[in-house]
Amino acid sequence: MTEIQDNSVAVIGAGITGITTAYKLMKRGFAVTVFDPNSYAAMETSYANGGQLSASNAEVWNSWSTVLKGIKWMLKPGAPLLVNPKPSWHKFSWMAEFLAAIPKHEENTVTTARLAIAARQHLIDMAESEGIEFNREDRGILHFYKTPKDFEAAQRVTAMLAKGGLVRREVTPEEIRTIEPTLKGDFVGGFFTDSDFTGDIHKYTNGLAAACARQGVVLKFGTAVLDTKADAEGVTLHARRGNSGIETHRFGKVVVCAGTASRKLASQLGDRVNIYPVKGYSITVNLTTEADQAAAPWVSLLDDDAKIVASRLGADRFRVAGTAEFNGFNKDICKARIDPLVEWCNRYFPEMSTRQFVPWAGLRPMMPNMMPRVAQGRNPNVFYNTGHGHLGWTLSAITADMVSSLVGAAQEQSGTKIFAPASKELAA
Ligand SMILES: Cc1cc2nc3c(=O)[nH]c(=O)nc-3n(C[C@H](O)[C@H](O)[C@H](O)COP(=O)(O)OP(=O)(O)OC[C@H]3O[C@@H](n4cnc5c(N)ncnc54)[C@H](O)[C@@H]3O)c2cc1C
Repeated sequence: MTEIQDNSVAVIGAGITGITTAYKLMKRGFAVTVFDPNSYAAMETSYANGGQLSASNAEVWNSWSTVLKGIKWMLKPGAPLLVNPKPSWHKFSWMAEFLAAIPKHEENTVTTARLAIAARQHLIDMAESEGIEFNREDRGILHFYKTPKDFEAAQRVTAMLAKGGLVRREVTPEEIRTIEPTLKGDFVGGFFTDSDFTGDIHKYTNGLAAACARQGVVLKFGTAVLDTKADAEGVTLHARRGNSGIETHRFGKVVVCAGTASRKLASQLGDRVNIYPVKGYSITVNLTTEADQAAAPWVSLLDDDAKIVASRLGADRFRVAGTAEFNGFNKDICKARIDPLVEWCNRYFPEMSTRQFVPWAGLRPMMPNMMPRVAQGRNPNVFYNTGHGHLGWTLSAITADMVSSLVGAAQEQSGTKIFAPASKELAA
């Protein structure tokens, strides 16, 4: 059993939420250890997502119109939503809480937009100060619409996002063609958010993990936390490294950032964090020729009707992602869900070849009210930064800052000093 240091914090999970949390805690002077069963950072949901850093996509899904669309889609093969009808208490309790959050649709959308805007500078600052290359493209995000009804609904969302401080500019079909000339099709209009941007979450998370390691964070890859227990003095973790025996570790505090596994860990710690794994798919099209590179868009896109997002990741990759599948922890890559993504490319970018693409599926760790859980647990040594659903890339940089500040405040309250401020600005 390792000795407890009173400024020690364990972070469970090395996805985008875990690594940004570890970095922010390390910068506040904590001695941080990160646990993850994978051999590298960002091997689960933070692996191949849609790439969008999108305040413009901050609308929470809790609305009657989503429910009605969902019921319609359930009867349509290849639709953006799929619900496995097999009963489960987890799924039904989540859905009941999803419905209960409908009255908070506007309030939660406005809060999410504010968080997404606040996250931008944190994400950029970490990348710039650590020299992280992540195929960042500052070319905005374009939402496009094919029917007047969808366009009018988007006008209402734009008004809501404006309450959160987001400027999402209405654009005509002609302007759509100018903003992204490679996009083919007939549209009634769109909305363009030039302050939104895109990048590769996997590259970013790994770059930041390397920066953490350089600055003293212990990254325990290949090590799964089996169980956790908190008491008045700290937290005990049992972990297994590969096939070796069980290790016991003791820390002052723990932050749970374990994506879809956070619910189980939270229940061991006496908290309820009702995350459901909402599966999504992506394809990464390899743009192998100059002609393909010229035929693919640079501006990031959101097709609200198909619920598909698309981002260019450097000269030779184009990522397209979508679908919400309620099917438990199943991560199989299902061809029937990949085909609509390929067809979407062929429809809107007919001159771009899809002969070479990499399919992927990941599980969004989604709370029923679509709001990430950034909070102290029942036990004052336990914290959560998890449940970011469809916006973990967009929101993690700010929620990591928020949770590290909660941990710092708890440390001060307990009267324990944080040793060795890690950066000059913190020492000042
Ligand atoms: C198809 C798709 C498209 C998306 N597009 C976007 C987008 O365009 N923009 C956006 O903002 N968001 C997007 N998202 C959402 C975003 O990718 C997620 O919200 C984010 O990656 C979640 O990060 P996380 O760190 O919470 O979870 P993860 O990345 O899953 O990390 C959790 C980590 O915890 C580890 N872990 C689990 N159990 C244990 C344990 N017992 N012990 C130790 N470690 C453990 C796991 O191994 C994993 O590495 C998309 C998601 C999907 C699926």
